[in-house]
Amino acid sequence: MALKTKKASPPSDKKPSDNSKLELLPWHLLTWKRIQQARSDNRLHHALLITGKVGLGKLQFASYLAYSLLCTNPNADGLPCGNCRSCQLFAVGNHPDLKLLPQA
Ligand SMILES: [Zn+2]
Repeated sequence: MALKTKKASPPSDKKPSDNSKLELLPWHLLTWKRIQQARSDNRLHHALLITGKVGLGKLQFASYLAYSLLCTNPNADGLPCGNCRSCQLFAVGNHPDLKLLPQA
């Protein structure tokens, strides 16, 4: 399994400005693998609550997960293909099935 990750750098929970540059961070991998396993076993829950300390990249993780779930042709690791129509809509921040709510 060769998941693409970003080198450790200052993480951010800020809204990604360019969806096409989303990446998993190294500390996301275990959670990612668990979610993808549940997905492949067809046991993915209808909702996930992502919690943790400030600066862990929770929004980045959630955005990447949404990217993956919306992709019509994810690879074996659950990573979005980046080429399908859904990925293209996501990359430009215009996917009709994705709505980010402002932080309270
Ligand atoms: Zn895709």
